[in-house]
Formats: sequence, C-alpha cells, structure tokens
Amino acid sequence: MRVGIGYDSHRFAVGRKLILGGQAIPHSAGLAGHSDADAVAHALTDAILGAAAAGDIGTHFPDTDARFTDADSMDLLRRAVALVRSRGLRVVNADVTVIAEQPKLGPHVHAMARALEAALGCGEGSVGVKAKTNEGMGFIGAGEGLAVMAVALLEAG
Ligand code: MG
Repeated sequence: MRVGIGYDSHRFAVGRKLILGGQAIPHSAGLAGHSDADAVAHALTDAILGAAAAGDIGTHFPDTDARFTDADSMDLLRRAVALVRSRGLRVVNADVTVIAEQPKLGPHVHAMARALEAALGCGEGSVGVKAKTNEGMGFIGAGEGLAVMAVALLEAG
C-alpha cells in the first residue's frame, strides 16, 4: 500500500469556464491556468504520482509545453493512472476536499466523484469529494481563488 498527497490552487479569472472534477460548473468566473485549470484533477493527479514517488504534474505535463494548452485535465489524470499502472500500481481509493467560498459546490460533488472514479478506473464509492468554505478568511475567503487537497491510496496489482 502506498499513499500520496496532492494540493493545488488557482486564481479565479473572468471569462473562463469553471471546470472541477471534469464538471462544468455555472459561475461568474472560471480559473486561470494553462490547461483547463481543473484544480481537482490537478491535486488528485499529484496525489497519485506522489504515491508512486513518480514526480508531479509539472514534470510530466509542463505548462511550457504547447501540447498541454487548454488540456483536458481529466485526460492528464487518466495518463497519471496509466503511468502508475505501468509501474505495477492501481488506485484503491481517493479523497478530495475543495475549499472555495463561491460557488456552492455541494450540488456538484456527486458528479465529480463519479467522473473521478471513472478516470481512476475504480468502482463507485471509491472516491470521496467534499466541499468546504474558508469561513471568509484569506485568499479563498476573499474570492481570489480556490484550493484543493487530495489523497490517494495505491496498491500493487
Ligand atoms: Mg493546477
């Protein structure tokens, strides 16, 4: 068994779509980023790569590489899963916390979890997604951006 942790944060940017866990979420702003800026997919990708001690999202999918401009981050997540599979590891489960003051993400956590389970190739009930606010504090509370934490458990086989 191997555990990995991931973290990501992005600034809000007007005129971009808000994509989290592969879901387009209605909001007045999206997230700034080179790819689609899906911070949920990014944090989980880092957790999976980290569990395998296989580097991080920036080393595998650099934002200086034009191939990843506006990339579908769920595709990057699937690639990370394939990479750890090639090293004899599979994802057992994962847990994700999204910290955002707005929009309210509770109505979207179920769809995010199902999409992440499909990307990870693990069964329903394997991925938890939770939405929190930051109680009005700091950059998240001020609505400058949002942050995501993720952990993933991998096992041989
Ligand atoms: Mg990111």
